[in-house]
Amino acid sequence: MNSNQNDIKFIIHRGSHQIGGNCVELVAPNSKILIDCGLPLDYDEQTPETQKEIRENARKWLNNCDAIFLSHYHGDHYGLLCEAPIGTKVFTSDETAMLMELSGIFGEDLTQRLDIHTFENGVITFKDFRITQYIVDHSAYGACAFLFEVGGQTLLYSGDIRLHGKKGILYKHLPQHVDYLFLEGTNLGRGVKQKTERAVENEFVKRFSSYQDNAHLVWCSSQNIDRMVALYRACLRTGRTLCIDPYTAYVLEFAYSVHPTIPTAKTHPNLMIYYPHRLTTMMMERDKTIIYGPYSKEKKMDLADLAMNPSKYVLLFRPKLLGDLKKYLADTKVCLTNSIWAQYWEQNKPEIISLKEWLAEKPELRQKLPDIHTSGHADVASLQKIVEHVQPKCIVPIHTEMPETYKTLFPSYTVLNATDETPIELINTKE
Ligand SMILES: [Zn+2]
Ligand SMILES: [Zn+2]
Repeated sequence: MNSNQNDIKFIIHRGSHQIGGNCVELVAPNSKILIDCGLPLDYDEQTPETQKEIRENARKWLNNCDAIFLSHYHGDHYGLLCEAPIGTKVFTSDETAMLMELSGIFGEDLTQRLDIHTFENGVITFKDFRITQYIVDHSAYGACAFLFEVGGQTLLYSGDIRLHGKKGILYKHLPQHVDYLFLEGTNLGRGVKQKTERAVENEFVKRFSSYQDNAHLVWCSSQNIDRMVALYRACLRTGRTLCIDPYTAYVLEFAYSVHPTIPTAKTHPNLMIYYPHRLTTMMMERDKTIIYGPYSKEKKMDLADLAMNPSKYVLLFRPKLLGDLKKYLADTKVCLTNSIWAQYWEQNKPEIISLKEWLAEKPELRQKLPDIHTSGHADVASLQKIVEHVQPKCIVPIHTEMPETYKTLFPSYTVLNATDETPIELINTKE
């Protein structure tokens, strides 16, 4: 390979001045790769014309792309992969590949149209690049950072990262003295120290104990394994059974096969499965062995039982469950706790609006309590720790609304403020 750094450039297609929707292109003499291909977080609120334009742009970026490196399975990083030409190569972690496979069983199947690869021993050589994967702490299972070595230059892409989760210490494995660090800055300007997942668990315990006679509905992501464990442990500590849907049961089953400390419906008594009407109907049409197959009858939880014994359960909740709630929990005392990014509650989606109306209908029975949550993203002190560890020659802000604050936060480092769609030639930082 004869490439030198002058032939190499990067283009942040999206993410230099916004949170989510990341897409970065790396161009070398003999290849072009993309890092993530995410859907903007506000996509649903855009006009049909803007949505069409977003998809058309993604198709342009994906055209002639030799491979996509997918950091984790969140829509703002993978959401436009569906626009990739059939057979496009995708490299990602084992865990992300598994989540894609499960989504294929329960919903959109990207595995049929994309050529998905995982990293053997964490490193691969692909055309002009040598790429190393580093698992990091984030709210998506199997999230990773990537180191790209190309033409004598090194670029580290943090992906979404935090230090206050259960695997926070992993940042110490990140490579040091890289030329470029693409660093996410979701929480810049928010100025709060993020609490730990253990603190989240303790808050759940307090909540379930304080509202003892109520059924608790908790909205959180199945793919946030740290949160699922915190919720499960809080149920265990308060004598409640955690009820999950079949998709979540599959996610936990897989996670258990990699990390056998993770609770599953097969191995843990106070985990049961409920069958949401919409999901069950859809799966029965596809393949009923998937939805009922792996679990015994004793593991099946009837939502009618939740109405009769609300104090026994915590239900992993989705707004799309509203139809089931109306049918079974019309006269039950329920508390809803959101354990997700607060913005999801503010979205103008029909199911959120209907849910709010349902809660407001009988305030004497139904309460929306304050959120119990911690961010999937590093707070300011954690970002500084990451930079102190990596000691990059140059920091490139990404996944942030405040790229201009990086210069103040990291005064002894060079910060390269890119703008979307501006090609940047790699300079030889060694000179
Ligand atoms: Zn993100
Ligand atoms: Zn994420």
